[in-house]
Amino acid sequence: MTDRDTRHRQAMQKLKSHVDERVAKAREQRGQLLVFTGNGKGKTTAAWGTVTRALGYGYKVGVVQFIKGLWECGERSRLEDDPNLDVAIMATGFTWETQNRDADTEACRDVWAEAERMLADPDVYLVVLDEITYMLKFGYLDIADVLEALANRPAEQTVIVTGRNAHRHLLEAADTISEMQEVRHAFNAGLQARRGIDY
Ligand code: ATP
Ligand code: MG
Repeated sequence: MTDRDTRHRQAMQKLKSHVDERVAKAREQRGQLLVFTGNGKGKTTAAWGTVTRALGYGYKVGVVQFIKGLWECGERSRLEDDPNLDVAIMATGFTWETQNRDADTEACRDVWAEAERMLADPDVYLVVLDEITYMLKFGYLDIADVLEALANRPAEQTVIVTGRNAHRHLLEAADTISEMQEVRHAFNAGLQARRGIDY
């Protein structure tokens, strides 16, 4: 064996014992709260990726789409026939298009009721609250109600929250926070959103 091989083997042994030690420390099994936030692209796609992952094991999944309900969504079209997937969509779609605060608030409360139902159901393994951060920001939903539903959910249930500017209290409650950082986005160079890539 060359010196290089020996050094590589030693480095890998060290890495393995480090990883083994950390795996051994991770003993707790329970549902988690994940927040995908930040200004960069990838929050909703990461959530749908996890939905696909959970469905792949036959788990029941609930997805609640706040804000962009009327938009096309390739993942939803692909997965909606799965009997284990339950999707609830906010009726008015895009708030800065409807510009009607009362109608938006009512639509938001309606779809939040669906979310509450999912968050109370121990058979639902994963719940995605897509773009809910804006509902809190606009004041359509009360952070206390959301935190209460999250705190009282079944212990085995995981929840993913997506959207920019996540509320401080949501972040405090989260087990995992990933911030998508915008390094560059094609849109700013005048490129249109692309079917099958952006939606
Ligand atoms: P995606 O749905 O692609 O995972 P996202 O959920 O991280 O994106 P949102 O803020 O929900 O991002 O925006 C949704 C739409 O805007 C998507 O079509 C996405 O590609 C696009 N988008 C995301 N980030 C940016 C950005 N920084 N600038 C411009 N457009 C963006
Ligand atoms: Mg999104």
